[in-house]
Amino acid sequence: MTTHYPIAIIGGGLGGLIAARVLHVHGITSAVFELEPSRSTRVQGGMLDIHDHNGQKAIRAAGLWEPFSALIHPGGEAMRILDHAGTILREEADGGTLSRPEVDRGQLRDMLIDSLPDEAIHWGHKVTRISQVEGVAGRHEVSFADGGSITTDLLIGADGAWSKVRPLVSGAWPTYSGISFIEADLLDADERHPSAAAVMGGGMLFAFRGNIGILGHRESDGSLHSYLGVRADENWIDTIDFTDVPAATSAILRLLDGWDNSLRDLIARADTGLTPRRIFALPIDHSWKRVPGVTLLGDAAHVMSPFAGEGANLAMYDGALLALAVSEHSGDVESALAAYEAELFPRAAKAAAESAESLEILFSENSPQGLVDMFAGFDEQDAAAATT
Ligand SMILES: Cc1cc2nc3c(=O)[nH]c(=O)nc-3n(C[C@H](O)[C@H](O)[C@H](O)COP(=O)(O)OP(=O)(O)OC[C@H]3O[C@@H](n4cnc5c(N)ncnc54)[C@H](O)[C@@H]3O)c2cc1C
Repeated sequence: MTTHYPIAIIGGGLGGLIAARVLHVHGITSAVFELEPSRSTRVQGGMLDIHDHNGQKAIRAAGLWEPFSALIHPGGEAMRILDHAGTILREEADGGTLSRPEVDRGQLRDMLIDSLPDEAIHWGHKVTRISQVEGVAGRHEVSFADGGSITTDLLIGADGAWSKVRPLVSGAWPTYSGISFIEADLLDADERHPSAAAVMGGGMLFAFRGNIGILGHRESDGSLHSYLGVRADENWIDTIDFTDVPAATSAILRLLDGWDNSLRDLIARADTGLTPRRIFALPIDHSWKRVPGVTLLGDAAHVMSPFAGEGANLAMYDGALLALAVSEHSGDVESALAAYEAELFPRAAKAAAESAESLEILFSENSPQGLVDMFAGFDEQDAAAATT
C-alpha cells in the first residue's frame, strides 16, 4: 500500500533533521526517510564549528539552544596555523565569544533526533526512484529499495551530495574539486600520542607546505582527527592500496618528507587506519527553476569544498528557513518554496565562492603564507569596523 505524507524529507542528516524539527515546533508534521538502518549505523565523527550568522540561528529557530550549549567543546574555538617545520605562524585562543563554538557532529545529530517524535524518522528507507504523479500538480511518488513507496505533496531533498531528488529540478552533478583527503584518527592523544597532541593544541590546526596540508581538530573525546589534503588527480587515491595499512601509511608519509615529526605523527600514528576521500563540489551558482512540489536543501542543493567550514551550517540554516517559509505560507507550498529558493540561491553562491577561494589560498605554492595573510586581512577589517 502507498501511504501519503503531506511533507516528506529525504535524508536524515543535519539539514533534513532540523527542517523536520522546525516544522514540528510550528505544529506541522513531516516524515523523514533515511537510508541508514538506525542512528548508530555510522560513526558521525568530526567537530563542527557552528557559526553565529547561520548555524546558530537555525538551532535557535529549532528551540534547541539550551541542549546545544551543553554540547559545546570548551576551548575548541582555538586555532593555529603552522608551517611544515612546526613553526606557529598564527595562534588564536578560544576567546569564549561563541561566534564559532565547536561541537561533535554525532552529538549534534543525536540532539536533533531526540527532539523529534519517534515516528518522525523512517530509518532504513533508501530512495531508489521518484516520479511525478500524473494529474495531481506537485505530487510525487517516492520508491524505496525495500519495494515500498509513498506519495507526497512537498518533497524535500536533504539527501546530500549524491541526491536522488536533485535530478527532478536540475541536471547539475558534483565534480571533483582537485583535492583529495586522507583521514586519520589518533585516540586518547594526550596519553598515547603526546607530541601530536601538543602540536594540535586545543582546537583546530592548519599546517601547510604548498599544495599539501594537514587540517586537524582536537575532538571532545580526547582524540585527534586530521585530514591530509593533497592537490592531486582524481584517480590518485586509486594508486594506493588503503587495505594494506603499513604500505599506504609509508606511501602517504613520503608526501611529508621534511615535515616536523610531530606533524607527521598525525598521520603516521593513526589508530584506525587511513581513510581516503575525494572532495566534490557543485557549480558555485547552482540554482534551478521552480518545480511544483519539490525543493532541495544542504549539500543536495549546494555541496561545496569544506574550506570555508560552511556546509553543515548552511544545511541547518536552509532547513530552518525552509521550514519557517512553509509555516509562514501555510497551505501555499509554491509560495513558500519560491520565497525559500529566492533567498537560498545568492546566499549559497556566496558561501560556495568563499569555499572555492579558500581552496585556492590553502593549496597554493606559497601556502601557508596566503592563509596567514587572509587572517591578517580579517584583523584589519575588524579593526576598521571597530573605529567606525
Ligand atoms: C571532509 C569534510 C569536512 C567537513 N567539515 C565541515 C566543517 O568543519 N564545517 C561544516 O559546516 N561543514 C563541513 N563539511 C560539510 C558538511 O559535512 C556537509 O555540508 C553537511 O553534512 C551537509 O548536510 P546535509 O544534511 O545537507 O547532508 P548529509 O549530511 O550528507 O546528509 C544526507 C543524509 O541523506 C541520507 N541519504 C543519502 N541518500 C539517500 C537516499 N537515496 N535515500 C534516503 N536517504 C539518503 C544520508 O544517509 C544522510 O544521512 C565537511 C565535509 C567534508 C566532506
